[in-house]
Parts: sequence; structure tokens; C-alpha cells
Amino acid sequence: MTIPKALTLNATFQFQQIGVIRSCYRQKFGIPRQPGIVTAAEATLELLPPFNQENLVRGLEGFSHIWVHFIFHQTMDEGWRPTIRPPRLGGRQRMGVFATRSTHRPNPLGMSVLELQSITSGSGRLILHLGAADLLDGTPVVDIKPYLPYADALPGAEGGFAPLPVVMADVKFTDQAMAQCLRYEQRTGRKLIQLIEQVLGQDPRPAYLHKTIGRQHGTALWDLNVVWECIDECFLVKELEQRVEQ
Ligand code: SAM
Repeated sequence: MTIPKALTLNATFQFQQIGVIRSCYRQKFGIPRQPGIVTAAEATLELLPPFNQENLVRGLEGFSHIWVHFIFHQTMDEGWRPTIRPPRLGGRQRMGVFATRSTHRPNPLGMSVLELQSITSGSGRLILHLGAADLLDGTPVVDIKPYLPYADALPGAEGGFAPLPVVMADVKFTDQAMAQCLRYEQRTGRKLIQLIEQVLGQDPRPAYLHKTIGRQHGTALWDLNVVWECIDECFLVKELEQRVEQ
């Protein structure tokens, strides 16, 4: 006879990190609120030992997208809040934390559906190349699952208070900023102009700064600080500064 395990309430669990994200996002400010919005944002997921074996991803290459389950490591020490002011509602209304994708949750778990572009391995490293991520550089990953269109894509689903995709605004560059971008693209091979257009176009400003025209902002992308301001409903990139990586 099998004896049922005692019912456990309020249990705690421990998860093991299986991988780490490397991305162009070096600070939270500017990261889109969901994946798929900034298509120029490249990212990789490197599997860590003992999970860096080809066996563990056998068959995954046939899936165009994967679920990446990760830890909101940069905000987890700030704890959680029962209600949140979603940016979608202009920061004016509070919604229950479980009705949002906020980072400040009872368990700091995030999940993103990401395009799986390729898998490479060599010299003991196993790397998944991903598209259009919404993840900070250094994000710890705790699980990967294939995205199953027949079960996960639900065309009739309702989007609550966030039914529509993000509307992109215009982004312009000063001559100086454009020249800096072109030099950077030539040197690194990275699509910096497209990345900046998409990151700023989705308006990364928190709701309480939406009315502040003419205020200078800085967004960290790769090893750069992109200096910009909002002018007449569009975003003007003023210059690029070299960041000193921490
Ligand atoms: N797609 C995920 C989800 O629904 O669980 C994340 C949604 S959350 C609203 C996206 C935001 O998380 C980004 O805009 C960024 O500010 C933040 N973020 C990304 N990686 C993070 C990390 N490692 N730690 C803390 N915050 C992070």
C-alpha cells in the first residue's frame, strides 16, 4: 500500500539556475515590457554545467519558439506588492499583482516566449541564440520549454486591460548621433540604429514622466549610453556616450 505524502501548505521550493542570458540590455530602463516588440534586440542563453550537454536540447531545434522561465534577479530584493499600477493604464489605476506581468511578485519568476534562431555548441559551451528578448543581461534562467502552437496560441483569448500591441513612435537622430551610430555599426556589425529606433519607439518612459517634454534621458544598450529626449511626440537621439562596464 502506498502512503500518500502529507499535504503541504505554504511550502518553499528551491530552484537551480540552468543558464544565463546575455543581451544588449545593460539596465532595466529601455527594456520592452514584453518580448517580440524590439526585434533588433539580440540575446543568447548559455546553458551552465551540468546542463550544457547537447542531450538536454535534443529535438528543441525543430521548434521556432521557446518558453524561457527566469528570475527577476535585479528586483527580487525589493520584495513584492499586492497591487501594481500597470504602465498600460498610464500608472493611474491599481491592479492585483496576479493580473499583471509586474516584476515585483511573491515569487520573482518571469516567463517569455522567445524565437529560437539556432543552437550552437563547442568548447564545452552550449548556446541558444534568441530573438526579440525582454531580458536584462545576466538574467538567471531556471527552465526552458518548447512553445506549442496548438496549445499556447489562442487567437480568441481576451487581453483584459492590455488588449492591443504597443504603438511605435517616430525616432530621429542628430547628425552627430547618426554618425556615431554608423561608426559603431561598422566596427561591431550590430544593428544599433534599428535597435535604438525600436527601444525608444515603444516609449520606455515610466508613466509619471510622460508629460515631461525636453527632459534628457539615458538608455544603456550594449556598451553605450544613448542620450535622448522627447520632442513633439517623437524621440530625438542626441549623442552616444561610451559606458564603463561595471
Ligand atoms: N515577459 C516576462 C513576463 O511576462 O514574465 C517579463 C515581463 S516584465 C513586465 C518585463 C520587464 O522586466 C522589462 O521591461 C524589464 O524592465 C524587467 N526585467 C527584465 N529582466 C529582468 C531581470 N533579470 N530582473 C529584473 N527585472 C527584469
